[in-house]
Amino acid sequence: MEKQIRVAVAGAKGRMGQEVVKMLGEDAQLIFTGNLDTRGDEESIRLQMEEMKPDVLVDFTTPHSVYRHMEICLQYGIRPVVGTTGLTPEQLQEMTDRYREAGLGAIIAPNFAIGAILCMKFAALASKYMPHVEIIELHHDRKLDAPSGTALKTAEMIAAVREELKQGHPEEKEIIAGARGAEYEGFRIHSVRLPGMVAHQEVLFGAVGQTLSIRHDSISRESFMPGVNMAIKAVVNMNSLIYGLEHLID
Ligand code: NAP
Repeated sequence: MEKQIRVAVAGAKGRMGQEVVKMLGEDAQLIFTGNLDTRGDEESIRLQMEEMKPDVLVDFTTPHSVYRHMEICLQYGIRPVVGTTGLTPEQLQEMTDRYREAGLGAIIAPNFAIGAILCMKFAALASKYMPHVEIIELHHDRKLDAPSGTALKTAEMIAAVREELKQGHPEEKEIIAGARGAEYEGFRIHSVRLPGMVAHQEVLFGAVGQTLSIRHDSISRESFMPGVNMAIKAVVNMNSLIYGLEHLID
């Protein structure tokens, strides 16, 4: 059997964390060593680390705690697999630099579902040929950040290849502020929050006489687990930070 990997989970009792613990229990190579809770003092964190001795920390917590968890992993030499969204682009860049300097592997993925990764890739490809685009993301109403990390990542991937273009009528006027959504590099992102939703995204394109829509739906949180499993097994052999699961599946 492959070498076993010790995995602690921050947020193990949350909606995503519970799925992660179940997935770990079904894979003999992965050992769940406990729920890391960082809401105590430094000493409490040190004691938890001593007990759990994790190789990897899987983080599904909150946008408020994820930055600190990245710092704790650096401090203890643990490789993080982070699904929590909400890190700012500046924080991401800072962590990329610090993990590179430390020679420590890390994976941050705004979406671990393979279909969502494909949605992003297809959207980026389409935007080369159909640059008029809008993103609509739809999530459950317990979500803290907007737009979703997935929408932000999709927008970055589109902006990297799409010709510069300011969409819509130049004299467009919002009757209610925010009606046209958030602006990102000349195109719009809309966030919907409703009970009953899990994680959904539609990327809409328009051109003369035609439209194209690319849609992905996560209808259960199990959809993210094959990606989390793959990331845990990959990160133990890495020595820098990657942002986005697409870097593992080319
Ligand atoms: P959730 O159900 O609210 O779970 C969050 C958990 O984190 C709770 O159990 C909470 O504990 C715990 N927590 C909060 N602060 C903590 C800290 N400092 N240390 C340890 N644990 C702490 O949220 P969720 O739906 O699982 O989502 C979690 C995150 O994952 C969100 O950012 C969401 O956007 C993201 N997400 C990512 C993906 C992906 O594929 N990347 C997919 C789905 C969701 P208490 O309940 O005791 O406060």
